[in-house]
Amino acid sequence: MYDLSGKRIWVAGHRGMVGGAVVRRLASEHCEVITVGREVVDLTRQAEVEDWMTETKPDAIVMAAAKVGGILANDTHPVDFLAENLAIQTNIATAAHKADVERFLFLGSSCIYPKLAPQPMAEDSLLTGPLEPTNEWYAIAKIAGIKLCQAYRKQYRRDWISAMPTNLYGPGDNYDLQSSHVMPALLRKFHEAKESRSAEVTVWGSGTPLREFLHCDDLADALVFLLKTYSGYDHVNVGSGVEVSIRELAETIAEVVGYEAKLTFDATKPDGSPRKLMDCSRLHAIGWNNVRSLKDGIANAYAHWLERKEPVRP
Ligand code: GDP
Repeated sequence: MYDLSGKRIWVAGHRGMVGGAVVRRLASEHCEVITVGREVVDLTRQAEVEDWMTETKPDAIVMAAAKVGGILANDTHPVDFLAENLAIQTNIATAAHKADVERFLFLGSSCIYPKLAPQPMAEDSLLTGPLEPTNEWYAIAKIAGIKLCQAYRKQYRRDWISAMPTNLYGPGDNYDLQSSHVMPALLRKFHEAKESRSAEVTVWGSGTPLREFLHCDDLADALVFLLKTYSGYDHVNVGSGVEVSIRELAETIAEVVGYEAKLTFDATKPDGSPRKLMDCSRLHAIGWNNVRSLKDGIANAYAHWLERKEPVRP
C-alpha cells in the first residue's frame, strides 16, 4: 500500500481531460495536489522540467501530460504525436529520477496493442504484431513510456508503474470536429443537427468498428486505486468491458441528445482498428471494477459540454 496522506502529488497535464479528472478525484484524498501551467514550464524542454522538479520535489507523479488527438489528427501530424510525446515523458521521467520521486504513474492508451491483437486485448499482447498505421506514432511513444518505467524499475528499483486506458470521454474533452475522438464529435454533430433541425448526421468510416469507452472520472478512480495499491513491472489495462459499434454509439448518442437523424457514412474517412476491447482481468484481480453505464456516462459528458460550450449558430 502507498499511503497518499500528506503526499505531494504532481498531476502533469492537469488542463487535459484525464489530468482534470485526476485532480478532481484526488481532492477527496488527504494529499497535496500540485499542478503547473504550460506558461511556467514547457514540458518539451528538459532544463525547464528539471529546474522546476528539483525545486518542487513531488513525492508522486500522475503523468497525464501528452499530445493527444483522434484518428485524423494522428494521421496528419505524425511528428507532433511521436516527437512531442517522447520528449515530454522522457523529460519528466529523467527529472523525476533525479528528484527521487517515489511513485510515477505513466498513462498510455489501448492503441499500443497490435492492430490484429486477439480480443479482448490482454497486457501480454504488447509488441506481438504490427500496429494500426493511423495512430502508430502515438502508440510508439506510449510503448517507449511503458518501457521507460520498466527500465527505471529494473535499473534503479523505482516503484514506477503504467496504466493503459481504453478510449476515454467526459468533461474537458476536445469537441473540435477535425481533431477530436469519435464520442465528442458525434455528441456535437447530433447536438448541432438538433439545433438546426438537420435530417442527417455524418459518421466517418463504415460504422462497423467496435470500440470500448470509459468515462474519465471512472478512469481517475481506477488510477488513484492503482497508485495506492499496485506495484508491478507490467502495465495494467483500464477499460469498461463494454463494446459497441460506432453505429450503436451514434444511436445511443442520438437517444441522449434526444434527436433522431439519418446516419450517413463517409467512406472517405478511415475506420482505424476493426476492434479495440481491453482485457481488464488484471485490474479486476487487483480489486477495482467500478464503471458507470455508457448511457449515464454520455449524459454526464453532454451535460458538462452544454454548460461550457459557446452558443452554436445555425
Ligand atoms: P480511434 O479509436 O483511435 O480509431 O479514434 P477515433 O475515436 O477518432 O475514431 C474511432 C472510430 O470512430 C473510427 O472508426 C472513426 O472513423 C469513427 N468515427 C465516426 N465518426 C467520427 C467522427 O466524427 N470523428 C472521429 N474522430 N471519428 C469518427
